[in-house]
Amino acid sequence: MFFKKDQTILEEKPFVFAIDPIQNKKYCGFCFQNANVKECPSCEQFYYCSRKCGHLDLIHKKECKAFRNCSERESIKYMLRIDLLRLFLRLLLVVTEKDVNPTELARFKSLTDEYDNIVKDKERINQLNSISANIGIIMGQEFLRQFSEKDLISYFGRMLMHKIAIKSGEISIGIGIYFNARKFQHSCEANSTMYFSGSRLLIKANRLITQDESPTISLCESSLSDSERRIFLKKSFYFDCNCSKCSGTQAIKAVM
Ligand SMILES: [Zn+2]
Ligand SMILES: [Zn+2]
Ligand SMILES: [Zn+2]
Repeated sequence: MFFKKDQTILEEKPFVFAIDPIQNKKYCGFCFQNANVKECPSCEQFYYCSRKCGHLDLIHKKECKAFRNCSERESIKYMLRIDLLRLFLRLLLVVTEKDVNPTELARFKSLTDEYDNIVKDKERINQLNSISANIGIIMGQEFLRQFSEKDLISYFGRMLMHKIAIKSGEISIGIGIYFNARKFQHSCEANSTMYFSGSRLLIKANRLITQDESPTISLCESSLSDSERRIFLKKSFYFDCNCSKCSGTQAIKAVM
């Protein structure tokens, strides 16, 4: 299979998404369009471009109710400044939803969770503990008791391994969990680029991709130096990058 330059290789909607807390007063929490947004009148924590978008954001109904009933209502706005907390809460709400799409749930459960790496990663475990504690305050302890410790680590791991920043131009406006995008191999010199239309992800070939190549995407910012990229990839995704840029084949070719 080969792809022409600018050809769309993948189009995908996120399984779960969350608006970025810094951008949530400029972009709609459901359609992710840059618009004149209004706060949800019930919880005053989420912002939508229209009543329709507010109604379509079904996960929000559950969190909204919890935000309203929370005994520490004042602290919620501080907790919601953490984008991973927003996404993890929404993920836990979706997987416990009575009418969750069983195929989608099964696909989520089949994703790699890097469990063994996460349990050894103190920083990650501390982050999970702090997020879970805050979710317990927001939703009540009863909600958290539905999950074993192992489940929480595994769900958190799947989220971390499959989350992608949703962008509007160069600005990150949210995060989403995408099943198919992460099947693409990473390369620091990727031959494909991710674009967004709202929260819908499009991966397009940024040059001709021949039959003997696979489409690749980059999981890191292009502004990072060689060593910063390698540290970032190892810390975030637990792998040593051996793409052509990192393994130096480009440099060898240039010398030849
Ligand atoms: Zn909207
Ligand atoms: Zn609300
Ligand atoms: Zn690399």
